[in-house]
Amino acid sequence: MKSQKRLVQFVVKTSKFCNLRCRYCYEYSELGNKAAIDLEQLEQMYRHIYDYYRRLDCPTQIDFVWHGGEPLLNSPDFYWKTFDLQKKIFGELSDSISNAVQTNLTVLNKERVRLLRDGFDSVGVSVDLFGGLRVNQTGVDSLPTVLANMDRLHEENIRFGCITVLTKLNLPHLREIYKFYEKMNLSCRILPLFKGSFDGQHDGFEISHHEILNAFCTLVDLWLESERTVMMIPIVEHIEQILHYYSPNSKPFFYDKHEWESVFLVNTNGEVYSYTDAYSGLSHGNIFTTSLESLIKGASHHEVIAAAEERMAATCSTCPFFGSCTGYPVAEGSKEYNELDERGVIRCIVTKGVLQHVEYRLKQAGIINPATGELNLNRLPLSEMPAALRSPI
Ligand code: SF4
Repeated sequence: MKSQKRLVQFVVKTSKFCNLRCRYCYEYSELGNKAAIDLEQLEQMYRHIYDYYRRLDCPTQIDFVWHGGEPLLNSPDFYWKTFDLQKKIFGELSDSISNAVQTNLTVLNKERVRLLRDGFDSVGVSVDLFGGLRVNQTGVDSLPTVLANMDRLHEENIRFGCITVLTKLNLPHLREIYKFYEKMNLSCRILPLFKGSFDGQHDGFEISHHEILNAFCTLVDLWLESERTVMMIPIVEHIEQILHYYSPNSKPFFYDKHEWESVFLVNTNGEVYSYTDAYSGLSHGNIFTTSLESLIKGASHHEVIAAAEERMAATCSTCPFFGSCTGYPVAEGSKEYNELDERGVIRCIVTKGVLQHVEYRLKQAGIINPATGELNLNRLPLSEMPAALRSPI
């Protein structure tokens, strides 16, 4: 039997340098630093990645996600050269390589339009729509520029998705945010405010776990009401997880960090982290100088894996949704989603709370039979159902 392709992402910090000073940015203290990864370092990184994945039995899709600072401040030529390097080094695996960029979309010219259209495989735009936190060095909101540049991408037929960060300042505008993505037919990821780069950075717009939970529940309700399916992550994922939970004989999925780690963050200096441990003392080692195999099999990686397994054992093992939810938010100890109880054990506030809400709403709508737990998708007027619900799992 042919094994399924697995996915690994390398989030590469090209440079911390940025033309904006978004007030919540977790790189804030470094945004003036122009130090950047160079092509020789990338070449070493590619060789180490290629050496590791070419020897595995299962085929692997390798995604490079180019981050900053603002990655498009780097010259387009840098990216064209690195794409060429990838082809040279990955050879027969080149078809399994893709490149995404996460941009503030404030710097766009003809060359960058060409790069986004013909170079990158996907484009993510950071835009909050409300709150005025994404400002330049003089405090001017970047939103009008970003919206104008989004129109330009549409005119140029460049597909893109968006990331919106939830803060106290855009919480009152969830409906408008949802309607924006619905009307524009854009996929998006809603991310709760991430830890800052210094104490007090988030004063005035911090949000609690319960505010995040309520916001996601509101977005679930908007999604279920909507005329058109909006590919809004994590809402769609949570709906799929509940449909999976109620599908008889569905194969359980568990996050197994020991077996497969799917996201690595590579800092400008080559240090590699699990995503939520970024810049902590928990680097797995340096990918510019060390083989990926040594990093993955190394003592520091094993320490991180053991901690993740302990967290899942303490929290997820008693959760009814474990197996439909992989346990990833607890395993990775994402602080925005979880809090600690008096014994230091994680309470899964956001993910479990949203799953419970989805379950409740699907029962209310008759999609799940509350007495038998059977899924009743066929008895519903399918034309009125969002597509993801019409073809679950
Ligand atoms: S909902 Fe939370 S506790 Fe339950 S399996 Fe998922 S991450 Fe673990």
